[in-house]
Amino acid sequence: MSRKWRLLDTGPRPAAENMALDEAMLEARSRGWTPNTLRFLQFDPPCALVGYHQSVEQEIRIEFCRAHGIEINRRITGGGGLFWDRSQLGWEVYAPRDYDGLPRDVEELYGHICQGAVQGLAELGVNAQFRYKNDIEVDGRKISGTGGTEVDGVFLFQGTLLVDFDVDTMLRALRIPTEKLKDKEMESVKERVTCLAWELEAAPALDQIKAALARGFARILDAEWISEPLSPAEAQLLDEKLPSFRSDEWVYGVRRSLASRQELRALRKTRGGLLRASLVADGQAGRLKSLLLTGDFFAYPKRTILDLETRLKDAPFGMGNVRRIVEEMFADGRARILGVTPDDIVLTIEEALAKRDLFRYGIDPAEVNNIFTVVKPFAEMPQPGFLLLPYCAKLSGCDYRYREGCAACGLCSIGAAYELAARYGLQPVTIQNYEKLEEVLLEQRSAGAEAFVGSCCEPFYAKHRDDFERIGLPGILVDLDSSTCYDLGRQEQAYQGQYENQTELRLSLLEQVLAALTNGHRGGESDNAPV
Ligand code: SF4
Repeated sequence: MSRKWRLLDTGPRPAAENMALDEAMLEARSRGWTPNTLRFLQFDPPCALVGYHQSVEQEIRIEFCRAHGIEINRRITGGGGLFWDRSQLGWEVYAPRDYDGLPRDVEELYGHICQGAVQGLAELGVNAQFRYKNDIEVDGRKISGTGGTEVDGVFLFQGTLLVDFDVDTMLRALRIPTEKLKDKEMESVKERVTCLAWELEAAPALDQIKAALARGFARILDAEWISEPLSPAEAQLLDEKLPSFRSDEWVYGVRRSLASRQELRALRKTRGGLLRASLVADGQAGRLKSLLLTGDFFAYPKRTILDLETRLKDAPFGMGNVRRIVEEMFADGRARILGVTPDDIVLTIEEALAKRDLFRYGIDPAEVNNIFTVVKPFAEMPQPGFLLLPYCAKLSGCDYRYREGCAACGLCSIGAAYELAARYGLQPVTIQNYEKLEEVLLEQRSAGAEAFVGSCCEPFYAKHRDDFERIGLPGILVDLDSSTCYDLGRQEQAYQGQYENQTELRLSLLEQVLAALTNGHRGGESDNAPV
């Protein structure tokens, strides 16, 4: 016999209200005041939401959102940045973790509940599948992102279903990495995202979509729906929580970047998402002064990351101490970050700490986070034989954009990079895509090159770092200016089926790196350290 669940439709609401409702409803359910619930939600006005563990500054174009009436808020669940407008429908499931018939393992639980949405979509004529770790996709294109959290044995699992999709506003509101937009692997956003309107030619009526999803969830939860409004207890909790969810402290303060010139950063692609470590180290005392771990991962309990940061604050960073603290934190299995291992965390922190070494080679301390090394650390880097330059730094109308060469016309930063290459005796090579990069690295290695210097954006480095390590040629990569055309005010040239962005090389940093390598960076160290 099916079991009674509440079906609740809270309609379009502002971001702070929806975020506060998540917490109010989870709390009310965990105190036994409310029944198991399926909630449908929408957002009005439109909003950009970061995941609980993310930094707003890193994920959202704050100025654009403010200028266009797009609210900014933070979810109580993990995961990545999202743009919501009225053309998206949210769904949420609230129930105890030990609810009969549901998997006990949190990853299996998420996969199971997603089957409800998959079945609902099938009723609408869309053949979707669950994709690890938290997406529902149609032929490889994401139609729904999901995420969850829990309090006192009760979980909230939520998803967003793209009914229609305003790609252009989403691209302007969120800091989607340039690399994701322009890489040949992703010719356009439409190759990785879809919505009901694109799948079905026209979006079904909202009531029809909700009814289909409700039937899908009823099957996998063995539930019978009773339509009921918010309870008075939930409404009161909502009133109490709303001021906090409207505050800057909640939206910006939870994961505010360290805003220090001495901040050291590193990032690592893990199975559970991108993990970023930002820290300030006291080199003389050998201690971590502060640490921020952010990313689009899911941590259980939600406080895990904050607790780990607290344990590591002021801790000595030598002699394996960081590893010991991190491993202890996860030793009893109660704290968990899906797809992120203690080793991932330790290596990311160690890599950020290693950026201190660059101070000694005359690299501007404010720029050390824009340098990534592969295969060997900076101090052991052999003399480079060639300079890798990304095609996207060439003027979008330039005859050389998709081929080797440069006429040094002065209209982009590539001409100056060619001059640098000539001065330091390096062969410049233009890279159009990952396949070309791999081909060049293998060819140069066979031809006897010992190392390279190059320029690429941070997301490209994060995505292909394993490939660089596999190919095995040591190198130093300098981050591109991360501005996309949206930051540069060239949005009219942007997404029109194909992204044609132009990036800028960090020429001064490239020169500092080449000078350090050429002047004998092991012998000619200069102490540029800020501490
Ligand atoms: S400097 Fe070189 S790459 Fe840049 S626009 Fe001129 S010719 Fe093209």
